[in-house]
Amino acid sequence: TDALNAAVDGADRLNAYAHKTPDVAAKQAQAADERLKSGDAPDLCGIPLGIKDLFCTEGTASQAASRILDGFKPQYESTVTTQLFRDGAVMLGKLNMDEFAMGSSNETSAYGAAVNPWRADDGVDLTPGGSSGGSAAAVAADLCLGATGTDTGGSIRQPAAFTGTTGIKPTYGRCSRFGIIAFASSLDQAGPMTRDVRDAAIMLRAMSGHDPKDSTSADIPVPDFEAMLTGDIRGKVIGIPREYHVDGMPGEIEALWTRGTEMLRDAGALIRDISLPHTKYALPAYYVIAPAEASSNLARYDGVRFGHRAKLAQGDGITEMYEKTRAEGFGPEVQRRIMVGTYVLSAGFYDAYYNQARKVRALIKRDFDQVFAEGVDAILTPATPSSAFGLGAMKDADPVQMYLNDVFTVTVNLAGLPGISVPTGLDHKGLPLGLQLIGRPWEEGDLLNTAYALE
Ligand code: GLN
Repeated sequence: TDALNAAVDGADRLNAYAHKTPDVAAKQAQAADERLKSGDAPDLCGIPLGIKDLFCTEGTASQAASRILDGFKPQYESTVTTQLFRDGAVMLGKLNMDEFAMGSSNETSAYGAAVNPWRADDGVDLTPGGSSGGSAAAVAADLCLGATGTDTGGSIRQPAAFTGTTGIKPTYGRCSRFGIIAFASSLDQAGPMTRDVRDAAIMLRAMSGHDPKDSTSADIPVPDFEAMLTGDIRGKVIGIPREYHVDGMPGEIEALWTRGTEMLRDAGALIRDISLPHTKYALPAYYVIAPAEASSNLARYDGVRFGHRAKLAQGDGITEMYEKTRAEGFGPEVQRRIMVGTYVLSAGFYDAYYNQARKVRALIKRDFDQVFAEGVDAILTPATPSSAFGLGAMKDADPVQMYLNDVFTVTVNLAGLPGISVPTGLDHKGLPLGLQLIGRPWEEGDLLNTAYALE
């Protein structure tokens, strides 16, 4: 317990852990010891993990970094964590994140932002990215061996890129969403955040699989992803989408992308220029669909069933209770999303916004289907348009500035595809940069193997 406490305490400066769970960890570690002694040790036996605060863990605080879930301790366990614990993993604690996974910098968290362990020369605290920023910071700082993340529009891949770690968002339906606090249900997927591709392969296998408790989880066999890491990508066709050369992208990110392309070519892959013509509509479509689903999912926080309830004044009725509770419980970004979502779903605007965004989503998916049908095996792009920025740097910026971080990642969620971010270099400030590989549905094994060749 002392050693575990010490390890988790190291996280304090980074604010990566929102809740430490040394008692759970000690119990699970003891059980892992027994299994090791008995010779029946599963893949993750005794491996210390951090769990994003979005996952419900039985009997331990799970509050999506929101005040509105203050004091909420679920009576059940998410399927993903159930499976990780089944395979012997040890939970060190719950990891910081953006409130309800809405954000790209961890700054919307009710716990305050997590800090990137990487330092800029000028000594400014940097964002670890978001929303899985606590997960990324903890893995990068060796405060756990791996962590769970979730990705609705880039929340695994962008923080991985900002911290020099590896993160994969699997195909939509690969991991059960049961027990993961919902943000935008048609986009949300869980995935591992790890130090390297091999660890990601091992952890993803444990997290994946069909679950009758999630009607969108797929009944498709889960291969041994680790066994597929041969490093042989000869003859694989890698697409380079021209629409991802966005205006204002730093030259060093272009250079990194070119270097990644050359690495894959040197490993025997065939490089092909491709077009995904609807890419430029992805961000606007995402920022209609995700808030729409969020406004509906977050309607359940009413001050009655979960967490926080506002203090009421004499004469206050149920309406005042809802209003006060939600005004106090949700932070500004979450309130903004609820308002945008409610608006785009409202009778007068549904067709103009929500329905239009759904059509755009179908076109984005078709772009990908087409290039895969033409023989492309994976698509290589930058993971983010910049390296990690300073905490507070976007404080006075238009919220859309923050949304622009997701320009390379949201397409993948809209199309339900697997995407991985792999650390591939440093920028002129010595900060990590990542490249993204996008794969065919259900072919995470192949995708991991291509990423392995980039590592
Ligand atoms: N940054 C995006 C958003 O704020 C993505 C978040 C996520 O993937 N959970 O919606």
